[in-house]
Formats: sequence, structure tokens, C-alpha cells
Amino acid sequence: MITLVRGFKDILPADTALWQHVEAMVRELLEDFGFAELRIPILEQTDLFARSIGTSTDIVEKEMYTFTDRSGDSLTLRPEATASVVRAYIEHGLYAKNPVCKLYTTGPMFRRERPQKGRYRQFYQINAEVFGLHDPRADAELILVLMTCMGRLELPGIVLHINSLGCPECRSKFKGALKPFLTGKVHELCSNCLRRRDKNPMRIFDCKVPTCKKAMLDAPSILDYLCETCQSHFETVKRSLDRFQIPYQINHRLVRGLDYYTRTTFEVLAQALGAQDAVAGGGRYDGLVKALGGPDQPAVGFAIGVDRLMELLAARAQSFEKRPHLFIAALGLRARDTAFQWVQDFRIQRVRAEMDFENRSLKSQMRRADKLGVSYTLIVGDRELDDGAVVFRNMTTKEQENVPVQDLVELVVLGLHFSRMRAPRDKFFCSYFLVSGVLFGVGCQVSGVRCKKH
Ligand code: ATP
Ligand code: MG
Repeated sequence: MITLVRGFKDILPADTALWQHVEAMVRELLEDFGFAELRIPILEQTDLFARSIGTSTDIVEKEMYTFTDRSGDSLTLRPEATASVVRAYIEHGLYAKNPVCKLYTTGPMFRRERPQKGRYRQFYQINAEVFGLHDPRADAELILVLMTCMGRLELPGIVLHINSLGCPECRSKFKGALKPFLTGKVHELCSNCLRRRDKNPMRIFDCKVPTCKKAMLDAPSILDYLCETCQSHFETVKRSLDRFQIPYQINHRLVRGLDYYTRTTFEVLAQALGAQDAVAGGGRYDGLVKALGGPDQPAVGFAIGVDRLMELLAARAQSFEKRPHLFIAALGLRARDTAFQWVQDFRIQRVRAEMDFENRSLKSQMRRADKLGVSYTLIVGDRELDDGAVVFRNMTTKEQENVPVQDLVELVVLGLHFSRMRAPRDKFFCSYFLVSGVLFGVGCQVSGVRCKKH
């Protein structure tokens, strides 16, 4: 049997309802904050990532899925979204259409890392980017969006870390102090970090090797090297977070994995995740648009790691499963044929109905109804059709009622709406219920289905 590629995974039906719920919630939140969706391709020219992410980052050095196309072009499966969003922003002149451009995008990313819990070779991100705003309030607003999202999902044990990486001038001064410090630590650093020491020393802060982490504990802090403008920018970000009552920890070792960050950086951590505890990260990257050939536009953004969010929410997956509402147990040829029509009519009216096509005993059909977890079952045989009434059974209370065959679907649909059998998060039914106060009573009486009020 041919199996999954290592580090890749299937998301099975038992989990997709939760994924859909989270994606819809974040989408709605971002749109309320003025973001519009941008859909970008999965494949880009390799140069785009090499130039934006930085050639001395782990991603570009060893994690990209790169191949040569038949035409000889070097192409790469996107390892992150910001580079593509910036490319699209420049390529379509979005900056000319609106001085402030807020975009979001969602989808899979590809990095050839060592697969482990919380680390996959194809994983999913939700990205938000704001272009055109220098103001530190843009950074704070973006963090507010992110933390509101975490709050709405009721994620346990979430911590926000923030830092400022300053501007190129601050960083050059800081690197001057970092180099002699690192010289004293050469025996404690891994071979990767020793290589980074010359090319990109700040990346050492991001190393996950415990000895390197320990060696960097007493490293100098970038926050002591910020120029006045960067310092005041950071102060406003912090003040704005205080104003929104968003708790945060200042972490001067937070550098993020990509080269293009300036000033504010942030990361959201969830202790429950263990080693791979970052659920989201982001920050300001003022130089990137210009570096990729666009105008000198500032930018700030974040990426949420959706797989890790799902891991935190896994225990709740079952409650989001979309079960059928209704099962029709049909006995006899004529009854099955009628049920086949009813099932389709129910579905078209947004009631999730199921039946067995095969000729099975009532007992076996009721067992299937139980397994599907439906709230109601309709029981119909040829005799019920002749008598003009079928049995409507509440699977929880075991109560049974007779429903007339004439206009059965309409009556049951009304009855189900008004007896509130549908889940409260089902918007269609909710709004229908709210605006149809008059119909409510009628539905109960006509259908003979008893709701809680009648
Ligand atoms: P980490 O420190 O865990 O390697 P990162 O700094 O490489 O994360 P980013 O590039 O900032 O991550 O991506 C943003 C988010 O995407 C991360 O916070 C994480 O939740 C998620 N993420 C990154 N790499 C992976 C992966 N290989 N598998 C699953 N999720 C990932
Ligand atoms: Mg990483």
C-alpha cells in the first residue's frame, strides 16, 4: 500500500468540523477588523523566498521544497506566506489603490523540517498583514486581533511575548556587543550556531538546542541598544496593549525565524503544547516591500499555526461534528421509495436526513440511527403510508408522535425549527426562528410535534 509522505498528514472528517469552525471564526474576526482576503499560489519562484526570508535562515538553507521545472525555472513550495503577499501587493500595485492595505490569507505551508509532534512538513497558517502604517498603534491593533482570536477560542495557558528588534542602526550597534559575547561561548554553541555567529548572529537566539538556549541566557539585550525613535515606538506598543488590557511578557531574546523583521516582534505561546509551543508569531517588517522591488512601505503582520491551535482544541472536536438531524427508517418497497424522496426534500430544506437504501430490519435501522447520533427518527412502513400517518420518534426522550403523511416534509421541517432541535450555532435556523415568532406556534400545532413551549 502507498502511504502518506513523511511529515504530511490527512485531516479526517472527525476533525474537519473543528477546523471549519476555527477558520470561520478567525475569518469573521479579521473581516470585522477591516482585513480583506487575498488568495496566493502555493508555488513561487525560489528567488522570492531566498531574497525575502534571507539566505542564512534555516528555512532557506535547508527546509524548502525546491525543484527545477521542465522549463528550467527554480520553483519552491511556499514555506510561509508573507513573501507571496508582498509580491502580490507590489505586482498588482495594491499600495496605489489604498494607502493602508490590510490583507489576510490562509492555507498550507511546506517546510522540510524534522517531523515531530506539532511540527509537520505541510502545515496550515492564517496570515494577516497590514501595509502602509508606520504608527505603533498598527502593531498593537494586530496583536489585539490575535489575542481576541485566542480569547474567543478559549485557549488554555496562552502567553504573549513581545520584543523590539530595532532598526538596522540599532541592530548594527547590538551586533557589535553580541560578537564578543559569542566569542566567549564558542564551546557551548552547536555547529549551526557557530556558523550563524559570523553570518547572522541574532539567529542564535532562535536556536532550539538546549545548550545554546542556556548559553544565551546572559546575552546582552537588544532593548538596551534601541535608538530613541525605536524606543518610543516600542513604548507606544506597550502602552496600547496596556490600554486594551492585554497581558504580555517582554522577551529580549525573541528574534523570530526570518531575517526581515524590524522593531516589534511577538509570539503567542501555549504551555500545553510542550516543545513546539509557539501558536502564532509576527512583527513589523518595514524594509521588505522595498527590498522586493516595491515602494518604501512599512508593514506588520502575523501568522497563526493552525495545526497547533487544533491540537489545543482537540478535546472539543467532537462537539463540532456535524451529525445528521433525522433518520428515516423505512420498511417495505413502497415506504423505501417514498423515504428516498423525503430524504432529498429534507436535505434541500437544510435538515440533514439519512436512510438505509438496503432492505434491513427495523432493529438494524434503529441501531444505525443510534450510531449516527440523530435526535429524531421517522418510522414508515407500507401500512403507515396506507393509514396516512408515520411515527416521529424523539431519540433522547423516546417519545413518539404520529405525523400525517400529507405534507410530511414541510410539517416536520417546521416542527424541527420550532422545537429547536437544531444546534444553536446553526445560523440559518437561528435567524429563521427569531424572525418567525408567528410561525412558531403554527408549526407546533400543525405538525403535532411538541416543542418545549407548546
Ligand atoms: P517554530 O519556532 O515552532 O519553529 P517558527 O518561528 O518557525 O516556529 P513561523 O515561521 O513564525 O514559525 O510560523 C508561524 C507559526 O506557524 C508558528 O508559530 C507555528 O505555530 C506554525 N509553524 C511553523 N512551522 C511549523 C511546522 N513545521 N509545523 C506546524 N506548525 C508550524
Ligand atoms: Mg521554525
